[in-house]
Amino acid sequence: MKLSVYDPIEIKQLIDQMLGIYDLVRLVDPDECRVLELDEKGRYKPSKECYTVWSTKQRCANCSSYKACHSETRVEKNEYFQNKTFHILSVPLEISNPDGINNRCVMECITIREGIDESVDLTRDGIISTEESMLLDSLTGVYNSDGFYKFVRQSILNEPDSEWAIIIYDVVKFKMINDIFGRDKGNAVLIRFADILRNKLIDNEVCGRLKGDRFALLIHADRFNDGFVISDHQEFSGLINENLFKMNVQAGVYFVTNKLMPIPSMCDRALIALGTIKNDITHHVSIFNENMLEKMIKEQHIIDECEKAIAEGEFQIYLQPQVEEDGKIAGAEALARWIRPNGEIVPPREFISILEKSDLIVKLDTCIWEQAARKLRDWKDSDKKDLYISVNISPKDFFHIDVYDFFEKLVKKYDIDKSKLKLEITETLMMNDAIKQLALVNKLHENGFEIEIDDFGKGFSSLSLLKDLSADTLKIDMEFLRETDNSKKSESILGSVISMSDSLDMNVITEGIETKDQFDRMIRLGCHSFQGFYFARPMPVESFEELFENNKGIIV
Ligand code: C2E
Ligand code: MG
Ligand code: MG
Repeated sequence: MKLSVYDPIEIKQLIDQMLGIYDLVRLVDPDECRVLELDEKGRYKPSKECYTVWSTKQRCANCSSYKACHSETRVEKNEYFQNKTFHILSVPLEISNPDGINNRCVMECITIREGIDESVDLTRDGIISTEESMLLDSLTGVYNSDGFYKFVRQSILNEPDSEWAIIIYDVVKFKMINDIFGRDKGNAVLIRFADILRNKLIDNEVCGRLKGDRFALLIHADRFNDGFVISDHQEFSGLINENLFKMNVQAGVYFVTNKLMPIPSMCDRALIALGTIKNDITHHVSIFNENMLEKMIKEQHIIDECEKAIAEGEFQIYLQPQVEEDGKIAGAEALARWIRPNGEIVPPREFISILEKSDLIVKLDTCIWEQAARKLRDWKDSDKKDLYISVNISPKDFFHIDVYDFFEKLVKKYDIDKSKLKLEITETLMMNDAIKQLALVNKLHENGFEIEIDDFGKGFSSLSLLKDLSADTLKIDMEFLRETDNSKKSESILGSVISMSDSLDMNVITEGIETKDQFDRMIRLGCHSFQGFYFARPMPVESFEELFENNKGIIV
């Protein structure tokens, strides 16, 4: 359900109208258990705690407004206090504040009756203690997310003149600790982590575990220093075998610039900062700035647009020829292009890495593979029957679908020769869950698909990878030569890579060839296959077919 959005004036009018029907109408922020009140600048801000209206801390335990806010539906409930029944209708909505930040909140429309309504749950006496324990994380003893939100707000209200920072921590690859050492060790790490963080706190600062390995701190902003960046494995020493797993902790920080912002939104900002360094263990800490939010909103916009564009067939393959030493076209790489309805052609660098953050990359890739297979079917009975097409596979594809099964079905569906559909994988594929991926790639290879390792040399594990992976071809990028000052050294590395590939019975394709000089150099080093602007840029399929026909398959 989409929540109705009101501005502060509309909501004030609405409350006034509702007061004609109900005994009490108020806005609450159930995440923080606070009533929202209009301030002199026309903004709704958190003020007293919800329960101060009629009871003694008995509400939150089973709060109808909390449920309403999180289920985004209306919830009704009776509550009992001092021989009165409070019937509460909780209506979730959003307020658009003048500073552009929407607050999710709940309008409580309350009818008060004398006496006890039959439906009231009178077991409430146990609630106070349950409520308090409900704010603590039972494993680590620090606050859980509800408790964290609540006490962060309290601290901010208690010290209105202080400046604050929210830090969110994440143990890198925490899941692996559970997998390798078992859940008990995983729990021990979490308990130690909670202790480390708790020991850093001074007055009014707060520590919580939001979920899993996500811990959060509220600290006085001027206290933020390297001590809060837990990059030192020593702090966890003795817990797990460091030869098997190196502990790494990353943190995202939000310096609170808007104290009226809901606490979960403050945490979201710290999380956005954390997200910018995820998977990059060379960075331990990232501090939020507004550009990050803008970038994230832009990325989400692209993801939304792409979803529609894929469904509407706006993604097409462009083909870039791959040629032999004598200039003969042997095949092509299929590269995705987004052709917008206005004719604009969007290159992959503007969408691939964004789609890789969502599962949409799988939809895009499978759609590109399908187009490539269909084209190979078209060519099957023509003068282009010997041409192959290489397609790119993203590491995420292996995670979400059975890549082997997909390609098996695809070649059957279009009745094409497996060796004509070459599969480009990257080294990063092997960095996560390597053993599983390795087995899958080897299975594809054993069953007749040709495997190419794309961008060889850009990753970390290149050489050790070759030992375990059955691949047919290495694709080396000319960047390898361009990027370095010491071209003699890199030439000799390239030369060795090529002769090593020979001895491993693997082909080498050099991509990114832009000049005749580069072409000649690579031939001298023993390379036989090439791809690059020097021969042709990626082009629409029809242009590729024309180029092939007009030049009888030879382009230099
Ligand atoms: P890649 O797979 O390494 O593809 C080669 C890229 O190098 C292509 O960029 C190509 O246009 C570019 N290139 C080719 N020759 C030259 C040259 O001589 N000089 C220079 N400077 N560049 C050259 P493109 O088409 O922009 O694609 C970029 C990357 O996006 C690809 O790198 C690939 O990693 C990814 N990508 C493209 N299409 C797909 C797709 O359908 N699925 C997935 N998962 N990734 C794709
Ligand atoms: Mg490629
Ligand atoms: Mg490449």
